[in-house]
Amino acid sequence: MNYADIKQYDVANGPGVRISLFVSGCTHHCKNCFNEETWDFQYGQSFTEAEEDRIVEYLRPDYIAGLTLLGGEPFEHVNQKGLLPLLRKIRAAYPDGQKSIWAFSGYLFDREILGKMYSEWEETKELLSYIDVLVDGRFVEELKNVNLRFKGSSNQRIILVQESLKALEEAGLLPQAGADTEANTTCVADMSDKLVLWNPPEYVQVEVKS
Ligand code: SF4
Repeated sequence: MNYADIKQYDVANGPGVRISLFVSGCTHHCKNCFNEETWDFQYGQSFTEAEEDRIVEYLRPDYIAGLTLLGGEPFEHVNQKGLLPLLRKIRAAYPDGQKSIWAFSGYLFDREILGKMYSEWEETKELLSYIDVLVDGRFVEELKNVNLRFKGSSNQRIILVQESLKALEEAGLLPQAGADTEANTTCVADMSDKLVLWNPPEYVQVEVKS
């Protein structure tokens, strides 16, 4: 996996002061993407153990709330593989929810991540187990709204991942590894009602008159 940037102090991509990791590679190619250079999987530098350890150290101060994954597309398969060792290290170093992990993905949580990747790729289930909040959906220029917190366009959703997985499991809607496609597609059709969303208040615009 390659990465484009690591920001040590970021207040724009999740609550509190956070570390941000921008991974390289995205196949969605949304119109007017904010970070087009990261579409290329070869962009930036190789993400090695040195970067993993640097992020774990960056997270150490109490005033750092957590890590945000964005890009690029953290849920491209090669990036899921690249991110797993980092998230394992973070959860081991900071257990019991000391640090929150957010991720931004153009993929839809129910239709594409749970409906396809979850049962087909061995990394997806473990990756999701480490993520607290997922902002999902492609950026849609026509639905762009700068007043939305943590979202670029109004189609995107802020999903509480662990609460949603629990609700889906209790409802018997969580796709099973190896289940036939038809069974999983039936699950996906009913999933969106069970997702637990977070709707932060929108920004308040203040007009200053001189
Ligand atoms: S998913 Fe994000 S990084 Fe990928 S093209 Fe869309 S806006 Fe850009």
